[in-house]
Amino acid sequence: MHDFSFKRGKLYCENISVASLVKKHGSPLYIYSHATLTRNFGLLDNALSPVDHTLHFAVKASSNLGVLRTLANAGSGFDIVSGGELQRVIAAGGDSTKCVFAGVGKTEEDIELALKKGIYAFSAESEPELVRINKIARRLKKKAPIAVRVNPNVDAKTHAKITTGTYDNKFGIAFEEIEGVYERAARLKNLYLRGIQMHIGSQLTDVGPFEKAVRKVAPLAKRLTEKHGIEFFSLGGGVGIVYEPALASGDAKWWCSTKRKTLLTPARYAAKLMPLLKPLGLRILIEPGRFIAGNAGILVTRVEYVKQTGVKNFVIVDAAMNDLARPSLYDSYHEIVPLTQKPGDHLKKNQVSSDVVGPICESSDYFCKNRMLPKVGESDFLALLSAGAYGFVMASNYNARPYPAEVLVKGSRAEIVRKRQPVKQLWASETVPKWLK
Ligand SMILES: *Cc1c(COP(=O)(O)O)cnc(C)c1O
Repeated sequence: MHDFSFKRGKLYCENISVASLVKKHGSPLYIYSHATLTRNFGLLDNALSPVDHTLHFAVKASSNLGVLRTLANAGSGFDIVSGGELQRVIAAGGDSTKCVFAGVGKTEEDIELALKKGIYAFSAESEPELVRINKIARRLKKKAPIAVRVNPNVDAKTHAKITTGTYDNKFGIAFEEIEGVYERAARLKNLYLRGIQMHIGSQLTDVGPFEKAVRKVAPLAKRLTEKHGIEFFSLGGGVGIVYEPALASGDAKWWCSTKRKTLLTPARYAAKLMPLLKPLGLRILIEPGRFIAGNAGILVTRVEYVKQTGVKNFVIVDAAMNDLARPSLYDSYHEIVPLTQKPGDHLKKNQVSSDVVGPICESSDYFCKNRMLPKVGESDFLALLSAGAYGFVMASNYNARPYPAEVLVKGSRAEIVRKRQPVKQLWASETVPKWLK
């Protein structure tokens, strides 16, 4: 569920018309809903209420300061994967002591910063990393809080590029080796073994793989509690969202495909997992990114040209793969709707099979292919839905294209939370060597 819907034929974000925002702030434009972010946070928080728990929003999914502050105010901690993300959390007013720090390649600088800021725990992904954290903690005269990331070797049955929990992946330490690693880590004087962590993949639409992984890891967590006194078990993130259709069915009947994929709700997630977790008596952490932010954001883009080739109807828009990389990176589906619904748009005779494409010189620069869309023309606007997670954060400046602007909406208020990047900023850090002058 989310807060983008059609009212009298116009697309709204909460109480503000999307067209009015794009008129004021230009295109392409990312728009986020405060209500959706906080509701999704609340749904997960509530589902986990049978156990002592904390939520740690995965900053890599959506890292704008406005989004982070929204979640910090809701009580969220954060899951970070770099020193830069830790500094972002702090800049947004988030609490560094509620941060967990994952990633296979933590640098010395990252580790030192995290220790100084007193993060909740490192999710350590290898033994050399444990040795490195111990060494830096000793130098700083600290004890580093540690969870080792276990790779439970469970197939998340999601897209190959976002599966992380099998032995083909670079993440975590093999299930069979974990206890030996804890034994050795316990001898490192400046570590404090605080928990165990896993994260099996992203965009899971079935609770089955989570259940399988928890059934496998829970007995291990119990043994580690007895031997090493760990306090928490982090399940990672990965709860998937519905991309197709993303609008509530009432709004979208005329438009969206009627087949609804089964949806992994927080209630279903909790119903399966809570009975397995409760007996452990551990604090349960989750690190949701996509579930909280995915449906809370859209990308609005203007139609520049419609190019009919006889074979294809290309709708060429002013957003591109540099603004939203997901379709070109993992063939992902984003619902695409015009900002204005015209009567009869739902009729096949008014629709045309279209490829919505960006202006970049790469064949992978597309948002959809051969999709039935209402006829649109130059200067119409389209919204790409469910672009709130792994959207802006993956943007690049490819083709010397400045970053788009971002707006946060709360009720009837809207605020630019990131200005459109001025084009001169693209080369502001560059110089021409003197010897070329
Ligand atoms: C990416 C990531 C997450 C968030 O995943 P989502 O699918 O967005 O919920 C959580 N934990 C870790 C360690 C991650 O790398």
